[in-house]
Amino acid sequence: MYQWSFVSSVAVALAMLAGCGETRPATPAIPPPATVNGKATLSDDEWRARLTPLAYAVLREKQTELAFTGRYDKHYEPGVYRCAGCNNVLFSSKHKFDSRTGWPSFTEPAASESIYTHSTDREAVLCARCDGHLGHVFPDGPPPGGLRYCINSAALRFEAAN
Ligand SMILES: [Zn+2]
Repeated sequence: MYQWSFVSSVAVALAMLAGCGETRPATPAIPPPATVNGKATLSDDEWRARLTPLAYAVLREKQTELAFTGRYDKHYEPGVYRCAGCNNVLFSSKHKFDSRTGWPSFTEPAASESIYTHSTDREAVLCARCDGHLGHVFPDGPPPGGLRYCINSAALRFEAAN
């Protein structure tokens, strides 16, 4: 018992050290939800149980994380960004750029079928598999496409390239 709690304490200390410089803890990896016709169909209670409070607020309640607070704002490692709700591959580091807006920004999705957009007052970006709210797309991105997908870090989970 004593040994186990010591090992746990060391693990926690190492995790804290490894987390230095990160403003928020990583979104935990979760198994993808079951899908029907390619769509994740979970109840509100199931989403609440799966997601961190912040990820729930963004993905299910369409809220926006504070600028410059997200884990992936200044993150440029090679890899892919998956949906924090359903594991769908949404964006690639190849299309990430520094927009200096305080949110992770991409010029295009990893694949056109990964996401869809919905126009209200702004053009919202949603995950095609779970309908999770990811952020918005604006027409002020760099050439040639001219688009800026402004995405909440809390809606994403990064997976490094091998
Ligand atoms: Zn999703």
